[in-house]
Amino acid sequence: MYSNRLGNLPPYLFAQIDELKEEQVKRGVDVIDLGIGDPDLPTPPHIVDALCRAARDPANHHYPSYTGMNEFRDAVAAWYRRRFSVNLDPESEITALMGSKDGIAHIPEAFVNPGDFVLVPDPGYPVYRTSTLFAEGRVHEIPLLAENGFLPDLSAIPPQVVKKAKILFLNYPNNPTAATAPMEFFDEVVDFACEHDIIVVHDNAYSEVSFEGYRAPSFLSAHGAMEAGIEMHSLSKTYNMTGWRIGMACGKMEVIKGLRRVKTNIDSGVFNAVQHAAIAALTGPQDSIREASDVYQERRDLLVGGLREMGFPVALPQATFYVWMPVENGFEFARRLLNEAGIVVTPGVGFGRYGEKYVRFAITRSKERIEEALDRMRGLDL
Ligand SMILES: *Cc1c(COP(=O)(O)O)cnc(C)c1O
Repeated sequence: MYSNRLGNLPPYLFAQIDELKEEQVKRGVDVIDLGIGDPDLPTPPHIVDALCRAARDPANHHYPSYTGMNEFRDAVAAWYRRRFSVNLDPESEITALMGSKDGIAHIPEAFVNPGDFVLVPDPGYPVYRTSTLFAEGRVHEIPLLAENGFLPDLSAIPPQVVKKAKILFLNYPNNPTAATAPMEFFDEVVDFACEHDIIVVHDNAYSEVSFEGYRAPSFLSAHGAMEAGIEMHSLSKTYNMTGWRIGMACGKMEVIKGLRRVKTNIDSGVFNAVQHAAIAALTGPQDSIREASDVYQERRDLLVGGLREMGFPVALPQATFYVWMPVENGFEFARRLLNEAGIVVTPGVGFGRYGEKYVRFAITRSKERIEEALDRMRGLDL
């Protein structure tokens, strides 16, 4: 009954963990879920107010524009200028997304022909792979290894793959490894992409979740990046707006144009009231960003400190709300934590085979819950 396209999708590797979790919940276990990549903090009130006001205005009850309202794209341009010193033309270099997942899921449709390669980081956000498969492209995994700071070695990609590669997906600060990338890496990426005519799609969903003064760069601020590709950003993690579905793609005009053409045929844009809320977010007070990062930083210190005391060699992340921990067997480790301690963590293999010897903790739960999780772990022989 189902298409080959669906049949070709990789198995959903989190399903087994979901099942085990359900079992525990049914048995009445107080499960601590550190598997969720979704902020537990609420959307700031001034943004919620902007939505409510806009929702009551009948002018917003119609189909929105496909590319996003002018005021939304202007707000994005102003935010990029202020935050990254990147200048964007709102007309041609910015388009609205229903979250960055929308952009990631649809960009291969615009540029990948059957048999073309897409360079996909492994471990990585699973949609890079599935969007490639939907477009009948071929996935070439680029390993992210601890010894390289979880940055890919572009020179290790076989020349015959490079020749047929259309898109290079990247994501720093990175989910799931929590690694960050220095500007020099982005410079190297621009040179590589321009030399081989590959479109860079940088997913910057976590640029605003960072610690101890670290400020993540935009790929677009690398010299020549506007010729090399685009960056997706989203209000989801930045303003605790995952359920609102709004983000943006910015950068190279021709790439934005291709993405717009695909999306025009699939969706009809982001509800105007949500765009008004996003304008309030991007142009209003930015204190909530610092406050959220401060909350995550305390949780990070608590979790990493506790794990290190138990003897786990875990790195202190500079950004994202994840802790990426090396273990013997990530799946077994996650299964044991769930069955023996009622703690959900994500097995790294769900992000690709190079994640097999890791688990990911999401610090999207309170300090009290993280402390409780550590207590339970101390009682196990891990
Ligand atoms: C959360 C996440 C996204 C998707 O975010 P939306 O904007 O809510 O679609 C994209 N990429 C990565 C790496 C993420 O973790």
